[in-house]
Amino acid sequence: MKFSRLNQLLATLFLATVTQHAFAYTTIKCGGNATKWSGNSYTARASSVGFPAGPWRDALSSVITHWNGNPSNLSFGVVWNEPGVAANNNENEVWWEASGGPNIGTFPAVAYVWFKGDCTLKEADVIFNNSVSYHHTTNKVSLSSYGGAFRPFQTTAMHEFGHAAGLAHTANVYNIMGSDTTHIHANGAIATAYSGEDANNGLVAVYGLWSGGPNDLAVSHWRHTGSSGEYSTHGRTRIFNTSNVELTKVAGTAEPVYRVNKGQTIKLEMTYENLGKTSPLTAKVGYYLSTNDTITTGDRFLGEGAVTLYRGFPDTTNNTFLVIPSDLVSGQNYWIGAIIDYNGAFTERSEANNATYIGIRVN
Ligand SMILES: [Zn+2]
Repeated sequence: MKFSRLNQLLATLFLATVTQHAFAYTTIKCGGNATKWSGNSYTARASSVGFPAGPWRDALSSVITHWNGNPSNLSFGVVWNEPGVAANNNENEVWWEASGGPNIGTFPAVAYVWFKGDCTLKEADVIFNNSVSYHHTTNKVSLSSYGGAFRPFQTTAMHEFGHAAGLAHTANVYNIMGSDTTHIHANGAIATAYSGEDANNGLVAVYGLWSGGPNDLAVSHWRHTGSSGEYSTHGRTRIFNTSNVELTKVAGTAEPVYRVNKGQTIKLEMTYENLGKTSPLTAKVGYYLSTNDTITTGDRFLGEGAVTLYRGFPDTTNNTFLVIPSDLVSGQNYWIGAIIDYNGAFTERSEANNATYIGIRVN
């Protein structure tokens, strides 16, 4: 019996195995070779105890549904009310276990995979630690990603089901298979977990391109900042002056708020992603000024740019020059927004990930 346990936050034990990757995504290995599902599908059976009808089931369902829309040939499904869950029973299962339990140990979540003799995947289980302060909410202020008290269940599950699909940890780009809680999309009060460009591209590489798959573009205010063992680390995107010096932030805020002058030219950093089928795509990006953190095309238009995005790994750039309007109110907070495909040129799987923001305060 061969198995691989993929721990959520086991950074220190992996320090000796860090390698530099020529590419971003990585796959689970069996005897040194990449493994995969031979049948192009993965269906999890969710514990009747841990995922009864209700918000936790809904949250898990949203993650599975999201993965199922990835642009590769690998499909995802879920079956509810599984009565008997166990490791290594030839069923793909998902359940909760108390901290210190035989499978979870002290990790927030784990994924176990077993291989067949030919090194294709035979079973993949996902287990969550019910002693961790998870929450299924998408209300961003409740989530640790945005200064709240709870670990986002959906980003954690998104990461673990990436393992169940055959993906391993990735450290060198902004991606869900690194630090999952800071791989998330937000516009306004809602923060949404997503699989991201790098993981989607990895599945396309392993399972082939889904010819009927969707296009999807996104813009995020998160970026790659470094690594911790096998895990990428992420931080917020920034605002710079024209000399590429990061502007001063207001102290003590839950999210970054940059001090700007009226009439100042700034450089806005954002992360642009091509998550879908067609590569490359060239999309327009609209830039806006908003009086709140919900960015829409109804906000004050500051200008437009264009990005050409190859599906690979996310493109974080600060090559966007914007002028802060001179008629803003001193001492007041505003938000600079970016909307990719603001002109609606492409039919996308999701329009909910097309807009995001960074806060500013006018001097
Ligand atoms: Zn992991």
